[in-house]
Amino acid sequence: MILRRLYTSKHYFRNTVNVKNVTNKFYSNDVKSKTKRDILDLNIRGETYSFPHVWLRDNCQCDQCFHKFAQSRIIDWSKFNLNSFPKDVVKDENSVRITWDDGHISQYTTNWLLFRSFNRDKQQYYDNYIYKPEKIVWHGKEFSKICTKHDYKAIVETDEALYKWLYNLSTYGVALIENTPPSEHSMESIVDRIGFKKRTHYGHNFIVQNVPNTNNVAYLSSTLQLHTDLPYYEYCPGANLLHCLVQTNSKGGENLLSDCHYTARYMKQKHPDAYKLLTEVEVEWSDIGTEQGNEFYKLHRGPVICTDKHGDITRINFSIPQRGSYLPIPIELVKPWFEAHSMFFEFNTKFSANFKTKSGDILTFDNIRLLHGRNQYKDSAENVRKLIGAYVDWDEIYSRLRCLKVKLHPENTS
Ligand SMILES: [Zn+2]
Repeated sequence: MILRRLYTSKHYFRNTVNVKNVTNKFYSNDVKSKTKRDILDLNIRGETYSFPHVWLRDNCQCDQCFHKFAQSRIIDWSKFNLNSFPKDVVKDENSVRITWDDGHISQYTTNWLLFRSFNRDKQQYYDNYIYKPEKIVWHGKEFSKICTKHDYKAIVETDEALYKWLYNLSTYGVALIENTPPSEHSMESIVDRIGFKKRTHYGHNFIVQNVPNTNNVAYLSSTLQLHTDLPYYEYCPGANLLHCLVQTNSKGGENLLSDCHYTARYMKQKHPDAYKLLTEVEVEWSDIGTEQGNEFYKLHRGPVICTDKHGDITRINFSIPQRGSYLPIPIELVKPWFEAHSMFFEFNTKFSANFKTKSGDILTFDNIRLLHGRNQYKDSAENVRKLIGAYVDWDEIYSRLRCLKVKLHPENTS
């Protein structure tokens, strides 16, 4: 929980207190002072909101500037005046009307403007509510609390259940669907509710079963070490859906899951040098072989922990079998990188949750945030463990979540 608090406070810092520093970091004072004069201050419901002239003109909602059906700007940019100036501003309770210096008239509702406010608290609301829900990190000990359970039929039939499942999946990176009909095709109805699948060289779906002489270690019944799927894809599948058709009666077969965002924050605090190596050193992920007659030779280079310019994690790459032997790094970094990699693996193992799905469960998890693995098990003549897997990209999941938000709560999303 300490880490969770740290995580939250770090975000608070970035989103609220640190705004000035962020601004200074990206823009020189010259640029700032120049744009300062080009801002319209509006008093809306007792508070001051500032909007740059250029932004207001760019976002004019009239029929000549904005196509309502396409929800798109149709301004002819070759004629756009970056220095448009409001000659007249008329405001009432619900709208603002601006007459520009060239005579063009723009009208906005106050709700529309407030939703797009540059005030930091309003921006934070938009970030978490519309852009992407804030992630909550967890330790394996907390797994039973954070892994929410959802009913298959409810997701297929109601938007509320679909929303709850996707919201929890995006927040915690894992959620469980129960009571799935025992058919290899049951997952189709769930995926159809989101949009569509991500097809890979393993097909639309993949069957996880013990296959002798396999080309992929996932198809063996031995221990499957913690990993992400398909790190060798530049456009790596976002979420993993694993439908348990037949669970093993034998000892083993449990799933292991670890939240790398928790592990990464832990390492950043306790082992900053190792963390830095994992975020900066690019290694090569690879998968070479043939599947159903199709040859593939996939390579992707990237660090284990990918971060954006705010230092937030965007993607995790980790797979011992699918890390290539070619290392595109200076020789002196090799050993330190291996030590950091080893530390990351050990901490994820230590912080992981261990549980066994049952027939009818679909385990859904974030493939670019969590590591997953499986304990060794043994098939028998009467009991052959069988899972069906599919991938869905985060673009599709977030898109569905936003559509559902607008549909279920139009009052909050104007
Ligand atoms: Zn216009």
